[in-house]
Amino acid sequence: MDPVSSAAQALAGCRRILAFTGAGISTESGIPDFRGPEGLWTKVDPEEFTYSRYLESSETRRTSWRMRAESRVFEAEPNPAHRAIVDLWGIGRLLACITQNIDGLHQRAGLPDEAVIELHGNARETVCIACGDRQATASVIERVVSGESDPTCRDCGGILKAAVVFFGEAMPREELMRAALATSEADAVLAVGSTLSVFPAASFPIEVVEGGHPMVIVNRGPTELDDLATVIVDGAAGEILPMLVAELAGRLLPRRRRRTK
Ligand code: NAD
Repeated sequence: MDPVSSAAQALAGCRRILAFTGAGISTESGIPDFRGPEGLWTKVDPEEFTYSRYLESSETRRTSWRMRAESRVFEAEPNPAHRAIVDLWGIGRLLACITQNIDGLHQRAGLPDEAVIELHGNARETVCIACGDRQATASVIERVVSGESDPTCRDCGGILKAAVVFFGEAMPREELMRAALATSEADAVLAVGSTLSVFPAASFPIEVVEGGHPMVIVNRGPTELDDLATVIVDGAAGEILPMLVAELAGRLLPRRRRRTK
C-alpha cells in the first residue's frame, strides 16, 4: 500500500484529529522554515534573537525589524496544504489545529479562529512591552520603511515587539490551555511540516500518542518523533495533504450515505 493510503487507513476511524503544524507547511507559500536545508538558521544565528537580547539590544531590535520588513510573510498566500486542513474541518474530522507558525495562513485559508491554536503568536500583530497596547504590524513596518529603525510605542515610548514568542519567552497561557484541552480530546494527531523538536510545543503530539492514539507525520525529511509515528509520509505537504484528505473524505461518504437511508 502506498504511504498516503496507509496514512488514510491509520486515520480512518478517527473523528477528532488534532493537526499539529510547523514551518514546513508554509514553505510552499514562499516562507522559509528554520531548520530545513534552506532554513533561516542556515543564514542567521538563533542566539541573536532571544527575548532577553531583544530587550537589551537596540541593534538586535533593528535587525529584527529590518528582517520583518524584508520578509515575505505578509504577502504570502495559503497553499494546498493549508486548504486541505480546512477541508478536513469541513468534513467534520478535525478537532483543532495547533500551529507553531506565526504567519496566520491557516485562518487566511478559511479555518475559523475557534479551530486554530497559535502557540507562538502571530506576526501580524505588534505589542508594546511596557503598556501592552496592540497594533497591526503593517503600520509599524511602514514606520521602519520610512526610516525609524527601532520604532517605539507612540503612547508610552516602550519597546515594540511583534506578538510572536521569542526564544526564552513564555508561551501565551490561554493558547497553552486550549492546546492541552484539545490534546486530551483528540483521537489522532496529524503532524505536518515540523521537525517536532521545539518544546514544549512537541509535547502535545507526544501526549496524543501516549493516550494510545495514532500519529501520522507528513514531513520532508526526518523528525525527532519518527519512532512514535504510526505512518510517516515523506514529501511535500502541498501535494500529500490534499490526497490524504480526499481519501479520508472518500472513506467517510459511504458511511454518511448509509446513515441517511
Ligand atoms: P522547523 O523549521 O524546525 O522544521 C520544518 C520541517 O518542515 C523540516 O523538517 C523541513 O524539512 C520540513 N519541510 C519544509 N518544507 C516542507 C514541505 N513543503 N512539506 C513538508 N515538510 C516540509 O519548523 P518547526 O518545527 O515549525 O519549528 C520552527 C519554529 O520556527 C516554530 O516554532 C515556528 O514558530 C517558527 N517559524 C514559523 C514560520 C512560519 O510562521 N511560517 C516560519 C519559520 C519558523
